Amino acid sequence: STPALYIGRFAPSPTGPLHAGSLVAALASWLDARAWNGGHGGRWLVRIEDVDTPRCSSSAAHTILQQLAACGLHPDAPPLWQSERAPAYQQALEGLLAQGLAYPCACSRKDIADVHAGQGHAKERHAALPYPGTCRSGLQGRPARAWRLNTQNAATVAWHDRRLGSQQQNVAHTIGDFVLRRADGLWAYQLAVVVDDGAQGVTHIVRGEDLADNTPRQTLLQQALGLPTPRYLHTALVCGADGEKLSKQHGAPALDLKMPLQALSAAAQVLQLPAVPPEQATLSDALSLWVRAWTHLYHQPP
Ligand code: GLU
Repeated sequence: STPALYIGRFAPSPTGPLHAGSLVAALASWLDARAWNGGHGGRWLVRIEDVDTPRCSSSAAHTILQQLAACGLHPDAPPLWQSERAPAYQQALEGLLAQGLAYPCACSRKDIADVHAGQGHAKERHAALPYPGTCRSGLQGRPARAWRLNTQNAATVAWHDRRLGSQQQNVAHTIGDFVLRRADGLWAYQLAVVVDDGAQGVTHIVRGEDLADNTPRQTLLQQALGLPTPRYLHTALVCGADGEKLSKQHGAPALDLKMPLQALSAAAQVLQLPAVPPEQATLSDALSLWVRAWTHLYHQPP
């Protein structure tokens, strides 16, 4: 069989139903897949990122799937659930440990804060400082709590975002050795997302700009796991009246399933797509128009 040229995905965390902000990522990733290859289209997958089990619910996940269907955004395969993927994450972590690219860490938040304080950093700055690398050379007899990726020898990651242009970050300096498995036993988003994008053969990632600064960490993990790096497009965000990014934590209202075209039109506007008066068009007219517009906006040859 010929390999697909394009596999995209929408990867919501089911901590609540879709809202105006998350619908932008859903619509953008769907359009990018459908507009691929002059409108012949690539594959579009949905992955339920319910790895943070205490914050996620299966009822929210089912609501999200219903909302997508009501909006005419149908995936090309049944959704993948991260809560069923622990063996794959475990295997990835063991591979990294065997290569010496990951290590167990015994540090509590307070241990890390004490190192930062000892280096003369003001307390207010601690959250923004990289992990000091205390456990890189061993646990010194302390019990393992979390597992981290060793970024010590990683070069600066430079990447091209299809909307934001050229980007770069030195993960070792800005974030340090980041967590792959958390002290509470949960798999970290970074590991789960990279393992699953790799397993699903994702070639193009389209998601909100708030996630852009995760890309360099994910690129380092892809390299460590021998996975290809997809192309990235980070979309504009929806802001509330106060200028803050709209989020569930921020109290964004769930989408009204009875008026999918209205909700999609607001998302389309954020993506700078043409307006479709709801009284003049059906859902499928609007989606076809936006697929054509998307081709011109984002799939032109460079
Ligand atoms: N699950 C993440 C979220 O909803 C998105 C992951 C991704 O697109 O990489 O914020």
